[in-house]
Amino acid sequence: MAITDKIYLKNHRQISSQLETNIPKGAFKGATLDILFQGEGLEKLDDATRDRVLDFSEDFLDCDCDHNPYCGCPERKFIRYLLELRAEGLGPDAIVDVMSDDYMLYAYSGDILSFLDNSVRTLEAAEGLARVEGADDRYDEIREAKRDLAK
Ligand SMILES: [Zn+2]
Repeated sequence: MAITDKIYLKNHRQISSQLETNIPKGAFKGATLDILFQGEGLEKLDDATRDRVLDFSEDFLDCDCDHNPYCGCPERKFIRYLLELRAEGLGPDAIVDVMSDDYMLYAYSGDILSFLDNSVRTLEAAEGLARVEGADDRYDEIREAKRDLAK
C-alpha cells in the first residue's frame, strides 16, 4: 500500500457532518478528492477547514491532466512534500505535525517511518543501477537525495 493510502483527514467526522454526506477518511480516496477537494461542498465548510482544503487543492491537485485528480500527480506531489520535509531534517513525528498544521491531515508516524526507510532503499537500488550503467550524473544526484533523507 502506498503511503498516500495512509494519509487521513484529521477531522473527518466534523467534515462529513459539515458536508452533510459521509466521505471516506482517506485523503486520497476517489470520493474524498471528488467531494471535498473538487466538489461544491466547499462553502459548507467552516473557514479554518476551507482554508486548509483550498491549500491542499492548490498544492496537490493543480495539474492540467485530463484525468485530474486521478492522474497520479496528487500522490506524486504529496510524496515529494513528505521527502522535502525529511530533507529539512524533520523526523516522522514532526512530519505528521506539519501535515496536520498545513492541511489538517494525519498519518501514523510508524507508517511515515517505513515510507522513509523504503525510500532510502529505493534510492540505494537506483544508486547501484546508475553505477553499473556508468550514469555518473545520475549517480551523484541519487547519492545527494539519499544523504538528504538519511539526515
Ligand atoms: Zn496530473
